[in-house]
Amino acid sequence: MSGILIYSEVKSTFLGLLTRGRALAEALDQPLTAALLGEESAAWAGEALSHGAERVFVGDSPQLDVFQARTYADALAQVAAQAEADIILTGSTLRGRELAPRLTQKLEAGCATDVTDLAVEDRRLITQRRALGGKTLSTEARTSPKQVIAVMPKLYEAEPGGDGTGEIVEIPLELEPSATRLVESKAKPSGGVDIEAAEILIGVGRGFEKEEDLQLAQDLADALGGAVGCTRPLSYDYNWLPDDLTIGLSGKICAPRLYIALGLSGQIQHTVGIMDSDVILAINKEKSAPMFKMSDYGIVGDLYEVVPRLVEKIRGAGN
Ligand SMILES: Cc1cc2nc3c(=O)[nH]c(=O)nc-3n(C[C@H](O)[C@H](O)[C@H](O)COP(=O)(O)OP(=O)(O)OC[C@H]3O[C@@H](n4cnc5c(N)ncnc54)[C@H](O)[C@@H]3O)c2cc1C
Repeated sequence: MSGILIYSEVKSTFLGLLTRGRALAEALDQPLTAALLGEESAAWAGEALSHGAERVFVGDSPQLDVFQARTYADALAQVAAQAEADIILTGSTLRGRELAPRLTQKLEAGCATDVTDLAVEDRRLITQRRALGGKTLSTEARTSPKQVIAVMPKLYEAEPGGDGTGEIVEIPLELEPSATRLVESKAKPSGGVDIEAAEILIGVGRGFEKEEDLQLAQDLADALGGAVGCTRPLSYDYNWLPDDLTIGLSGKICAPRLYIALGLSGQIQHTVGIMDSDVILAINKEKSAPMFKMSDYGIVGDLYEVVPRLVEKIRGAGN
């Protein structure tokens, strides 16, 4: 028997994948199962059942207390064997992207990461993802019987479904102690703002000349009741803003109601983080900036002139 196994360490992604997994399992006529690894996620078992899982495998071990991709891949391979699952769907989160290739190697499977759509055609699982720097969409099917697919987070909304009569199975895991040892962990400096939850998000890029000029963006965010996020160069290279404000492939995936892109070019590694925004406004001095192509509104102009005028207008409108 073959089946679909869902795993993600992020609850919304886990339940969203279960929701999508229901339709795929039906189209492939395969059972849908779920894996919950570690103490924290065991509490999601009831919701996994109410979102359509026929069996939920719950596994814990002291080796899972700290995330180590190799150990989690071992654990997931053991669950996949017990679930007799050939298709493993996980989130293309920071951890999921590390986990997927290791699991793929263990299962001698085919793999796709950063997947943006899942479908079934001719009883085969078909995936889509962006290729060639985001200029094209690649539609792929794997020839291997086993497949590990990491799907972009926030792609599928969680909706309860199924008959909710599945069973919870405690699975004993046999895990080797990890070859790496955690010596110390420190919290990263945080921006103290959850940009993923922001309904209005202002993205700042290298169009800003100096760190102190970012106050312009903060003024705009304050006027609109929004938050400020950034492109990777501003956090990772310049250290102007904390890493957790980075939007994009190596940062956060956000879906605000309004995204305002200030002085950023719109490279695919950034735009994957905002492409599900309801409305996008770009402000850039170069008419040819790629950001304009995916924007609903655009202002070609110098942000140093445009932003203060916008802030003034918004503040004026509020009075
Ligand atoms: C593996 C990998 C992962 C990556 N992950 C991410 C990621 O998660 N997030 C991310 O953001 N990037 C990521 N990047 C980097 C990404 O490829 C781009 O290099 C980056 O997004 C560009 O940042 P930017 O738009 O701020 O800068 P630039 O591309 O230099 O664009 C600056 C823009 O500002 C405009 N500008 C300049 N002055 C003004 C002005 N006064 N007024 C108005 N406009 C002005 C310019 O016209 C230009 O369009 C990644 C790259 C790699 C290789």
